[in-house]
Amino acid sequence: MGLKIYFNGRIVDESEAKVSVFDHGLLYGDGVFEGIRAYNGRVFRLREHLQRLYNSAKGIWLKIPLSMDEMERVVIETCRANNLQSAYIRLVVTRGIGDLGLDPRKCSNPTVFCIADNIELYPEELYENGLRLITCSTRRIRGDAFDVGIKSLNYLNNIMAKIECVQAGVAEGIMLSEDGYVAECTGDNIFCLHGKQLVTPPVYVGNLAGITRRVAMELGAKAGLEVKEQLFRLIDVYCADEVFLTGTAAEIVPVVEVDGRCIGTGKPGPVVKHLREAFRELVSCEGTPIYE
Ligand code: PMP
Repeated sequence: MGLKIYFNGRIVDESEAKVSVFDHGLLYGDGVFEGIRAYNGRVFRLREHLQRLYNSAKGIWLKIPLSMDEMERVVIETCRANNLQSAYIRLVVTRGIGDLGLDPRKCSNPTVFCIADNIELYPEELYENGLRLITCSTRRIRGDAFDVGIKSLNYLNNIMAKIECVQAGVAEGIMLSEDGYVAECTGDNIFCLHGKQLVTPPVYVGNLAGITRRVAMELGAKAGLEVKEQLFRLIDVYCADEVFLTGTAAEIVPVVEVDGRCIGTGKPGPVVKHLREAFRELVSCEGTPIYE
């Protein structure tokens, strides 16, 4: 038996959840999505993820055929149908089935599906020892060409950069803006610690307003750090006391090497360790209950 999938209004077996070859999500990457986590029977920051999904949809003139409350039920019901307590949830809305032209007016019904699966955790060793990063030669898309704050199905910019990481044998890579500022990583946001200052690039440089990024900023402020959104360059990463990444899948993960340069002591530092523990504590008790 496969997974139970929410697909266009019904919970169906994985084998029945099939997208048409004429779906513009497939033909053109015309659609939006979210990656969400559930911990201990609670979906973490569900409303924030839904808000970002609806904002992304609005950004591409896509009207989601469900209200946000209905979409919340979709996520909860999909987790329930698979008896999950902890999960990685993928919520996708595409433009729907059209013809071979670009014109979205030919697509009358958006395709909506939700997958909830057991989370494949990053190996614990990555958190203990930290990640090695490279800087990718693929630049982040310019904000005046496409706003990367829209979490669209078109991820080729990130995938090109990810391939560079794979070829270099590292798990993640830094993507720069067209004028050389640090933007983010291929699927994670980035933070640098300088003394008591915790700095992350502002979203206008060309990065996703990550939900985990926001949580890390909240936890950093709570820990007494001066949290700032500020433009910075690679040299500021190389010379940071600590560097870490944030993302729904990765959570908060330390970085110990960038482009062959050792970061700080070369081991995960005390601040990232503290933030990671505070994050784990938060997710274990906060969130929308699945079973109630
Ligand atoms: N940047 C990019 C490009 C991403 O794809 C993601 C993952 N969705 C993030 C940052 C992190 O965002 P979040 O914390 O909301 O998962």
